[in-house]
Amino acid sequence: MIDIAANLKMVQEQIGRAQENSVHAAKYIKLVAVSKTKPVSLLKEAVAAGAHDLGENKVQELVEKFDLVPGPVSWHLIGHLQTNKVKYMIDKVALLHSLDRLELAREIQKRAAAKNIVLPALVQVNLAKEDSKSGLMIEEVKDFMIAMQDFANIHVEGLMTIGPLAARGEEVRPVFRQLRELKEQICQMQLPKSEMKYLSMGMSGDYPIAIEEGANIVRVGSAIFGARNYAI
Ligand SMILES: *Cc1c(COP(=O)(O)O)cnc(C)c1O
Repeated sequence: MIDIAANLKMVQEQIGRAQENSVHAAKYIKLVAVSKTKPVSLLKEAVAAGAHDLGENKVQELVEKFDLVPGPVSWHLIGHLQTNKVKYMIDKVALLHSLDRLELAREIQKRAAAKNIVLPALVQVNLAKEDSKSGLMIEEVKDFMIAMQDFANIHVEGLMTIGPLAARGEEVRPVFRQLRELKEQICQMQLPKSEMKYLSMGMSGDYPIAIEEGANIVRVGSAIFGARNYAI
């Protein structure tokens, strides 16, 4: 049997240790417990053990679980978002981590305006260059941020990246550092309608290093819920 409460405690302790290790570490770190592929019973256990933020990478799975997990839960959509799925997630997601193209922004704007809501979102940056499908190239990000100023119903709140999955240990650090530096550069642009408050980076294999490089949101799945049956 998997002991979710013990795993959560262990992750929280590691987060605390990483915070002490680095001058770049943020004071407050949001832990998103990534529950993709896991049954609702385990999500409930995590919430009972103190998890407030749950992360899913597929709209359909998030929507199915949304009504079944009671308690004050914020849902994070962390996976690639297809334009035709926006209408299902728009009023359920506290933070979208994967805003990565204008076509998607236009659809979100339309759906959010119709419901009179503002969707908080992070711009996904493809620094590892492993998955060419998701995330902007680093040289595209500043222009994209400027373009986002015209979307009244999308509030950009920071940047997200997925570290290189094939990398081991310290090899991921330069990628996380690059995202922190990009965030600092964008802060200096003083864009009126964006807020560079979040850096979402770090997963089970690398979240302590991400925190040392300034992550204030980490997305941790298998270290809390156990290994998944299939790779996502
Ligand atoms: C699955 C996933 C995670 C969590 O991965 P673990 O290695 O299980 O911690 C984090 N971010 C994204 C975008 C994911 O798809």
